[in-house]
Amino acid sequence: MIIIKSVSEMQQWVASVRGAAEAISFVPTMGFLHQGHVSLLDEGRRRGDKLVLSIFVNPTQFGQGEDFEDYPRDLQQDSQLAEQAGVDVIFAPTAKQMYPNGYATYVDVEGITNTLCGASRPGHFRGVCTVVSKLFNIIQPQVAIFGQKDFQQLAVIQRMIQDLNLPVEILGLPIYRESDGLAMSSRNVYLTEVQRPQALVLSQSLARARELVAAGQKDVAAIILELKTKINQQPAARIDYVQICHQLTLKDQLDVDNDSVLLLAVYIGKTRLIDNGFLVD
Ligand code: AMP
Repeated sequence: MIIIKSVSEMQQWVASVRGAAEAISFVPTMGFLHQGHVSLLDEGRRRGDKLVLSIFVNPTQFGQGEDFEDYPRDLQQDSQLAEQAGVDVIFAPTAKQMYPNGYATYVDVEGITNTLCGASRPGHFRGVCTVVSKLFNIIQPQVAIFGQKDFQQLAVIQRMIQDLNLPVEILGLPIYRESDGLAMSSRNVYLTEVQRPQALVLSQSLARARELVAAGQKDVAAIILELKTKINQQPAARIDYVQICHQLTLKDQLDVDNDSVLLLAVYIGKTRLIDNGFLVD
């Protein structure tokens, strides 16, 4: 496994692999890898001849006052996990490499970015789409693998791929969870001992919503009211959003159907956690 930090070196490696007609699979991340990331790498290994992992804490997707500076970073530990997962190249560019002086081009997906995380984090998806487009151009993967943990991100990337005719197959893999149900996230390290059990309120809300639906409750307003009441009982919790949306349009629904996804973003203390899941099997 090699670690590449410059764009031009990465491009040279890609040219040599493409010359040999080998297919590249690609997993973009911000690093501080956990088993959720590893599940994406495992799939990547199966899907391509060569596997590239990018580790880049992308400044353009963080807003003012968000955790860009504090975001956990550990390239040494990540390298070990990546090597075990069969990664061929870690692409870990500096911000200067990706956004040199004079940088001026951004990719903006409209519509589905106006809701959920897009509404609470203005400019977030513009940063995500810009960096993912750049990474796709540099790495030229046949397949790119994302997690359903970031449900809206996946939908936005699919939209971008379609709209810009990018020749990349996008795969979305299920959420990987801790044994007690908490969705794995690099940000979970921010949680204190007191907050950690309270963070379970996200996955428990999902389970409760599915239970209500299975028992015949289809009224979105009633389900959301119950979930919000329960979440607000956790002293450290502050709701950003709790919504039930159509899986493709991400528009709010009035009644639950087979396309319904519950999406939550909740601060536990200062840590913003997200989770989601379908409400009908
Ligand atoms: P991040 O490093 O948080 O930007 O995530 C990089 C990729 O890993 C994204 O496609 C995420 O959706 C995915 N991912 C993050 N957490 C999980 C998880 N718990 N299970 C599956 N995929 C995940």
